[in-house]
Amino acid sequence: MTLIDVINLFDTDEKCREILVRLRWPNGPECPRCKMPVVELETAKQLFYCKECDYQFTVTVGTIFNDSHLPLQKWFLATLLLCEAKKGMSAMQLKRTLWGQHKGSYKTAWYLCHRIRAAMKEVDQSMLDGTVEMDETYIGGKKRGFGSKVAREAKEVVIGLRQRDGDLRFFHADDARQGTLAKYIRENVSRDVEVIITDDLPLYPKAVGDLEHKTVNHRANEYARYENGACITTNTVESAFSLLKRGIMGSWHKISAKHLLAYLDEMTFRFNRRKSANLFLDTLRHMVTAPVLTFDKLTA
Ligand SMILES: [Zn+2]
Repeated sequence: MTLIDVINLFDTDEKCREILVRLRWPNGPECPRCKMPVVELETAKQLFYCKECDYQFTVTVGTIFNDSHLPLQKWFLATLLLCEAKKGMSAMQLKRTLWGQHKGSYKTAWYLCHRIRAAMKEVDQSMLDGTVEMDETYIGGKKRGFGSKVAREAKEVVIGLRQRDGDLRFFHADDARQGTLAKYIRENVSRDVEVIITDDLPLYPKAVGDLEHKTVNHRANEYARYENGACITTNTVESAFSLLKRGIMGSWHKISAKHLLAYLDEMTFRFNRRKSANLFLDTLRHMVTAPVLTFDKLTA
């Protein structure tokens, strides 16, 4: 799906609603309240009616689009821009692209970005398997005091897990202690995993426990080696970290700790679908099935 496709295919509110109906209710429209099949009241307005509970609604009711006054085409264009921006796009950039330099408000663009982002979140993930690389990195924060330990305490910890030729996951962790690392392994990595590869941080052997574990010795400047034809490296999870950092530096500039997880989810959602032709439609599907994100909740 290209920008031209979105402009051509979804040039009216009606056409946008048509695709949203198909994505939200693949088996035919149903009532959001009582889940009964419904009738379409006014085709022109695409208004649905449930006679079981006497409820009128549209396809966007109770979704991320809830209560939005923006034309749906604006939503669709913003969604495409966020899907296509490998390193993310700032709300300011989105505002300039969709409204122009002197029109639209930053607040509207910011809220729009956050709601689309809220939909770019995985649900029902399976456990990672095969060869899994794991690493941790530090984002943001001001360097206070001296020495790496002091500087790190002021930053946010991101833990990354990446199955080779499979999914990437990022987590905003409280810390990078052994118990925390172990928790993310337990919750995301299959007991049948072939091998977990980490760097030589001394916390990893106990965190990995009785699963197969290989390390690369970064302190000895070793970044990859071959063992029986298998490449022992954490380069693929590290390259995902560097994409994340370039996104934060180049596009978002500064993100607060509060919203970090949402950015991590956006980044991994897009990354895991980078070879899929359905990224745009998949995102729209999530936008009509994910929970509502209100402005109050976002700014609380
Ligand atoms: Zn109903």
